[in-house]
Amino acid sequence: MTSPRTRQRMVERLREEGIRDAVVLAAMGEIPRHIFVDEVLATRAYDDVSLPLGFGQTISAPFTVARMLELARGGNPIGKALEIGTGCGYQAAVLSRLAREVHTIERIAGLLGKARRCLRELRIVNVKVRHADGTAGFAGAGPFDAIVMAAAAPSIPPDLPQQLAIGGRLVMPVGTREQKLVLVVRGVEGFAETTLEVVNFVPLLAGITR
Ligand code: SAH
Repeated sequence: MTSPRTRQRMVERLREEGIRDAVVLAAMGEIPRHIFVDEVLATRAYDDVSLPLGFGQTISAPFTVARMLELARGGNPIGKALEIGTGCGYQAAVLSRLAREVHTIERIAGLLGKARRCLRELRIVNVKVRHADGTAGFAGAGPFDAIVMAAAAPSIPPDLPQQLAIGGRLVMPVGTREQKLVLVVRGVEGFAETTLEVVNFVPLLAGITR
């Protein structure tokens, strides 16, 4: 249930469900998702469901991760990436295969130990994990070619588009009762915003916690 074969079946399913980016599919086929979830849930790690991580948080379903990263890439390699909402570190691990340098921010300290352990176990060295409130992004490490937010905000935090490089892409869920995925692309002249499908993420919360 946690074998490379199971992972390949997940990749086939993602392809059938409409994920087209071969680089994203290859990365999802490479990163063992089951090590990021609790042992008792490991057999369900490759099902297309979100799973509880503790602290009231969830690991996004494989399709959601693939879709976000496909949009973030826009068909091009990513130089510097920012992820807001590390959770268990799974999406950051996949992102590490798509970007040269990944910064990921999580507000719940209790989640970070496991995330760091998993990234180390996979010998991923281009992901920097930070315990902070990511609402205002991470100006110090920008500008970013991609920003991916794994928690929903009522509107786009104004600091985030500003931290995009020219050509950079921000993907995040926006909304309260109903959320939609929003893509913002920074052009030379300004920002182009596209609203996409309905999604379901945990809310972006302010402040940090143990
Ligand atoms: N990418 C994760 C998904 C985690 S769910 C994965 O692959 O597992 C979203 C995460 O966003 C939660 O862990 C939650 O604690 C975190 N989060 C919510 N608000 C945040 C904020 N303001 N700053 C940083 N992280 C936040």
